[in-house]
Amino acid sequence: MELLEQRILSEGRVLPGGVLKIDSFLNHQMDPVLMHEMALELKRLYEGQEINKVLTIEASGIALAIMAGYELGCPVVFAKKSKTKNISDDLYKVEVESFTHGKTNTVVVAKQFINPEDKVLIVDDFLATGAALIGLKGLVEQAGGTVVGAGIAVEKVFQGGGNLLRSQGMRIESLAMIASMDDTSLTFC
Ligand code: 5GP
Repeated sequence: MELLEQRILSEGRVLPGGVLKIDSFLNHQMDPVLMHEMALELKRLYEGQEINKVLTIEASGIALAIMAGYELGCPVVFAKKSKTKNISDDLYKVEVESFTHGKTNTVVVAKQFINPEDKVLIVDDFLATGAALIGLKGLVEQAGGTVVGAGIAVEKVFQGGGNLLRSQGMRIESLAMIASMDDTSLTFC
């Protein structure tokens, strides 16, 4: 998506460890106009697919997810990073290793919010190794629901998660796909 790629080129900063910082429009300050355009593009890409729920993970996936849910006309659920070891029976849970912080979080969602009849679009801000996406897919599968696909703002293709999941049959639509990046250059696919 041209608009998003331009913003990444003009405002993004590459940090050591393969992390892209886009705090001025997505990860700290957020640009609602750009977010809305991104949600419209996800809606266009998934046109004709039955989707009745959007699922994301806190915190930075929530903004794009709520815009996508608004455009698709369906509820948005965000999986929570649990702070307690005491997980109640009312929750589905998975372990997700955080790409940016390196630690493993227990991520939970209340059983009442994902059901076997759900057709779920997973939305997130970044796709790197695929750990977050695999975790979210796992939550939907525990509930007996169906993952229709994923809508991602920025996929860092060189970190492999997207292609791994595509090879397993998951549909993934990424609005910007980065082939390579370092502190002097950034190339889109
Ligand atoms: P994965 O689980 O695919 O390795 O990484 C995806 C998750 O890590 C996303 O939910 C996102 O919050 C975070 N993440 C991964 N790479 C980046 C990055 O380059 N920049 C930022 N801001 N977050 C990232």
